[in-house]
Amino acid sequence: MKINTKKSKSMIIIKSTERAIIRIGGNKVQQVASKKYQGCIIKEDMKCDQEVKVQIARAKEAFSKVHVELIDNELRTKFDGHETWFEFKNPVRWPSTISIDANGICDVTFNKRRHMHWNKDSIKKLNKSDVPLASVFPEYWMVEVVDNTNLTHDTCLLTVRYYNDVFNFVGPGQHLTIRQKVTGKVKKYQYTPVPMLPIVNPDNPNPGPGKSFLSNSLTHLIVKAYPQGTLSKWLCSVDMGEFIFVSEPQGTFCPTTELKGKKQIYLLAAGTGLTPMLSVILWVLQTTRKTKLHLIFFNRYEEDIIWRKEIDETTYVDGRFTVEYVLSRPSETWKGRQGRISVEMLKEMFPMFDKSSDSRFNYFGLCGQYEFSTQTEKWLTEDMGYPKKDVYKFMGQ
Ligand SMILES: Cc1cc2nc3c(=O)[nH]c(=O)nc-3n(C[C@H](O)[C@H](O)[C@H](O)COP(=O)(O)OP(=O)(O)OC[C@H]3O[C@@H](n4cnc5c(N)ncnc54)[C@H](O)[C@@H]3O)c2cc1C
Repeated sequence: MKINTKKSKSMIIIKSTERAIIRIGGNKVQQVASKKYQGCIIKEDMKCDQEVKVQIARAKEAFSKVHVELIDNELRTKFDGHETWFEFKNPVRWPSTISIDANGICDVTFNKRRHMHWNKDSIKKLNKSDVPLASVFPEYWMVEVVDNTNLTHDTCLLTVRYYNDVFNFVGPGQHLTIRQKVTGKVKKYQYTPVPMLPIVNPDNPNPGPGKSFLSNSLTHLIVKAYPQGTLSKWLCSVDMGEFIFVSEPQGTFCPTTELKGKKQIYLLAAGTGLTPMLSVILWVLQTTRKTKLHLIFFNRYEEDIIWRKEIDETTYVDGRFTVEYVLSRPSETWKGRQGRISVEMLKEMFPMFDKSSDSRFNYFGLCGQYEFSTQTEKWLTEDMGYPKKDVYKFMGQ
């Protein structure tokens, strides 16, 4: 057997910090503290906290490729675009759990509703030709409005629940399209589901690494009603019990790739541009150990600030997360930063990019009106030197 000593490394798995000198053919083999093996990080001290966080991060991204719907005894699954149908001869219980392992194998578990023996015929895989047309995965799911609460004078928090048993996980920074007939016309606009704040315990993700409850759980949306708006105004005044239609998750933001190796993440949000930032904040706090997050939240008036108390409370829960509010029309008593976003303001807040300094570990997420995001991106990249890959605009791409 031939061993390439330049490529070989050794690791001692032991609780104390033992060193060992291993030589192959007289050449010393480098001893390492951790190793990635088949996608998993193995550490010499046997601690797996980092591994758990990596697994959660991976699974959270993969979940948005999984769709599961149970109607009566018929189960439809869609994984990475591939649809499969099953028929249960006996009733099963919903919700159950769904898990995705390090190799991307997706496991959906159902419990029997009745204690009875199941044989091989109890679950039948259906061929596409056996599946009625109505059973093909829908483009839009029907959800019921279960709550609609005012957050500020022009924004509301809309809570919806899937009408059927549906698992439709929206990943960090992703959005849904809502399709709705308003005043005789079909409108389709994007909205970004938000986690509920404050994020109480970011170290205790529920229900466990790589697992998610398979349930028709609630989805929360923050919507701003524009005075001349159609769908936005309709959504903010919709009654409980009404039905609306939502799509699969959309959006290209992929946090494990985008945020890899980043130490300081700056999220610049204007108004309802806050919405994608909230799921990114939750993701970073749950899946990283040292990454720091700074939300810079731009509004006109103090009363426009959405969820101020809840955002502040989240900063107390995890010291890695800070927030700064910036107002363009502050009252005389406002002690915080004021003014409209400008290149001068950005230079006051962030260092210029320098590839030999820590600024190479900075990352910027931008969301607001079109001009806010495009102009800020231009200032950060052209005037402050940040590479385009380190600045992401949440604009529905
Ligand atoms: C990826 C993505 C995610 C989004 N997420 C959210 C979200 O979480 N919450 C949210 O509230 N919105 C979000 N939006 C914006 C949303 O999709 C709609 O554009 C918005 O709700 C306007 O809908 P409307 O029915 O008022 O539009 P329309 O009926 O077409 O608007 C009519 C009039 O309303 C006014 N108006 C509409 N949009 C704006 C605007 N942006 N600024 C100023 N005036 C406007 C204008 O006067 C316009 O002529 C998102 C957009 C994208 C692309």
